[in-house]
Amino acid sequence: MQLKLYDTLTRAKRPFKPLDPANVRMYVCGPTVYDFAHVGNARPVIVFDVLFRLLRHLYGAEHVTYVRNITDVDDKIILRAGEEHPGLPLNEAIRRVTETTDRQFHADVAALGCLPPTAEPRATEHIAEMRAMIERLVAAGNAYVAEDNVLFRVASMPDYGALSRRSLDEMIAGARVEVAPYKRDPMDFVLWKPSKPGEPAWPSPCGIAAPGRPGWHIECSAMAWKFLGETFDIHGGGIDLVFPHHENEIAQSRSAFHTPVMANFWMHNGFLQVEGEKMAKSTGNFVTIHELLGSRKFGSNQWHGYVLRLAMLMTHYRQPMDWTVDRLVEARENLKEWINCSVGFDEVAVPIPEEFVNALSDDLNFPAALSFVHSLHRSARHRTNVERSREMAAILKWLGIWNGEKSNDVYDYGCDVRRGPAEEDIRPYIDARDTARKAKNFAEADRIRNELAKMGVVLHDTKDGTTWEIAR
Ligand code: AMP
Ligand code: ZN
Repeated sequence: MQLKLYDTLTRAKRPFKPLDPANVRMYVCGPTVYDFAHVGNARPVIVFDVLFRLLRHLYGAEHVTYVRNITDVDDKIILRAGEEHPGLPLNEAIRRVTETTDRQFHADVAALGCLPPTAEPRATEHIAEMRAMIERLVAAGNAYVAEDNVLFRVASMPDYGALSRRSLDEMIAGARVEVAPYKRDPMDFVLWKPSKPGEPAWPSPCGIAAPGRPGWHIECSAMAWKFLGETFDIHGGGIDLVFPHHENEIAQSRSAFHTPVMANFWMHNGFLQVEGEKMAKSTGNFVTIHELLGSRKFGSNQWHGYVLRLAMLMTHYRQPMDWTVDRLVEARENLKEWINCSVGFDEVAVPIPEEFVNALSDDLNFPAALSFVHSLHRSARHRTNVERSREMAAILKWLGIWNGEKSNDVYDYGCDVRRGPAEEDIRPYIDARDTARKAKNFAEADRIRNELAKMGVVLHDTKDGTTWEIAR
């Protein structure tokens, strides 16, 4: 089946035709490295990792270039560095913050089964490209210098706002536009600004004497240009980036290169929410990937990365998704069964079933793809249908939710205390207590009962044996 993708710019699902099938090019906005990533941030990483895998499958692994940047210069980083390391020179403090965050981000997304992108450019290593673009924009009349800032002149672009389809008033409100006296128009946005003393600073473009630093939007335009060219196939990110970030990227890149489009497809994942509200650092309703992964020991509220990944794939990428414990439990239970059905069957490589690829080729229809996995699991009939089990194994690996290992540890795929322990968690304690009681070791039996009580579990001894329940 022909790959079809939904494009935010044209508001339509269209057949995907790469500009160059020998080099399919995708750019996705990556993290600003000032703090640990939360699971909301994991959503675009996982969604576009699946798209990366699909493109590699369709065009060949060597024919896809996937770029995900790292924003390592930004107001939030500077602020955080000052708070966290007040005794250090600012540049050193920034280095510590970005290095730690960067390392954690990579550990987190690897645990979530994501492939490394083809390139992960850092903003601070591409200042030259940013300056070159800014010079072009000023020379062409799309930008101007004002009090050591360089601003993009929004009025120079007649179809500014096409991506977000907002009225000017809405845009002004939505962007929380900074009204500065040097702006010719409140909508004009910063390409370059002067650095305050101690802040990261580079020689400024356009003959500005004071050293400065780039605005966020120009970082992505410049890195996309460097690695993917003036125009490329797919640009992705979370839905919150449509305005102003992607709108401004389009304005910069199209004006600098005089191109009709920056990317042929603009793709945006929906929000990951908690009780209907976007998960965000600013609202405080977030949980970090790092916390969820944890050490995976019993009695903790921690999950295997593959469970988190599968949970993320249970909703269509454009739909909002509520992040709940029930979702994680469902993902864990399905994954356990699927892995049981696949263990040992991954030694003979089989082609990925066409029906599965077709489901994903329909604008990454995750629910349809997973419903195919469910049907495959049913027809594998507890490992008795070798062909089907081999296909299961191939799909789980392809999707990045299994690496072929057999796990003997029942806790490996997660355990949750908020929902309460499962029979398989508690039964070994009860058996150990029975053994102790039979040996008349009542002190040990009581110790085990107390141990369970600490976990919120109460025991009932009946003539048919011991049952347990969560204390109310
Ligand atoms: P940030 O570090 O805030 O720039 O976000 C990095 C990426 O995560 C961007 O693509 C955002 O759109 C995305 N993102 C942030 N919060 C959420 C959320 N709650 N649900 C889905 N995507 C999100
Ligand atoms: Zn970006």
